[in-house]
Amino acid sequence: MAKLIDGKAIAAQIKDECREKVAKMKSEGVEVTLAVIQVGNDPASTVYVGNKKKACEYIGIRSLAYELPEETTESELLELITELNGRKDVNGILVQLPLPGHIDEEKVLDAIDSRKDVDGFHPQNVGALCIGKPGFVSCTPAGIIQLLKRSGVEIAGKECVVIGRSNIVGKPMALLLLRENGTVTVAHSKTKDLREVTKRADILVAAVGKPKMITADYVKEGAVVIDVGIHRNENNKLCGDVDFESVEPICSAITPVPGGVGPMTIAMLMNNCVESVALQQ
Ligand code: NAD
Repeated sequence: MAKLIDGKAIAAQIKDECREKVAKMKSEGVEVTLAVIQVGNDPASTVYVGNKKKACEYIGIRSLAYELPEETTESELLELITELNGRKDVNGILVQLPLPGHIDEEKVLDAIDSRKDVDGFHPQNVGALCIGKPGFVSCTPAGIIQLLKRSGVEIAGKECVVIGRSNIVGKPMALLLLRENGTVTVAHSKTKDLREVTKRADILVAAVGKPKMITADYVKEGAVVIDVGIHRNENNKLCGDVDFESVEPICSAITPVPGGVGPMTIAMLMNNCVESVALQQ
């Protein structure tokens, strides 16, 4: 039976570490502040923003909520970002995605001061990750590295296969595994004979966005399997990109959905907020 990698417990551990660091900073007169901007009222975004607010409260991070109406213009949003960029009392700026169709997401994300870009999406931070310089790292892949390390999974020298090449998961995931000295392959929608590639993996990360696509015949016996996907199945239950029932019996460790990668994203966001203070100094 595979070991279950408990993302809930590891995320709780990281949040508690952040809480301690924030308490210490407070005792030294330093406050950590995150500005969260939501445009419109997409219900899923409202849930995500609410969860981020709750995590801030638990850790002791001051959160400033900007709930802007759907009809907010791009220039109004850019103006707010410029104002927050200039505020010394704001350490992190997060714009909840997706933005309404009339706003250019890329332009907005690029406008955030890279030293306050706690989501790690700014080209400067992506470039820093590429060449091994300090900067913010996208939260989900950063969380996966923590899951592996804190579960005692050695990355150095291992065959790592990432399925998916998105800017927020697949690509930064591959770069982080490389930084940890893994031998990394990125598979994607144009990969020929995906099974042949994924069966080489000692560590397999599925960020493919297709429910239960990764069945046992994609997985080498004894592999560590990380499931990034989040979907609702036909019974409205959460499931991942990995077919847990068929893969679990043959791998050595696996993340469940829910309770695997999901909780790590907010934990790493909180960690980035805490680190932003040092980065800005
Ligand atoms: P995306 O749609 O941007 O990227 C999917 C990638 O999979 C693409 O790069 C594509 O090339 C590849 N792909 C698609 N079909 C394929 C196929 N048949 N074979 C091989 N590769 C294929 O998605 P994303 O934003 O990277 O997210 C991936 C999944 O992770 C989604 O289910 C998303 O909901 C989930 N997600 C979870 C978290 C979390 O906090 N747990 C965070 C972000 C994303």
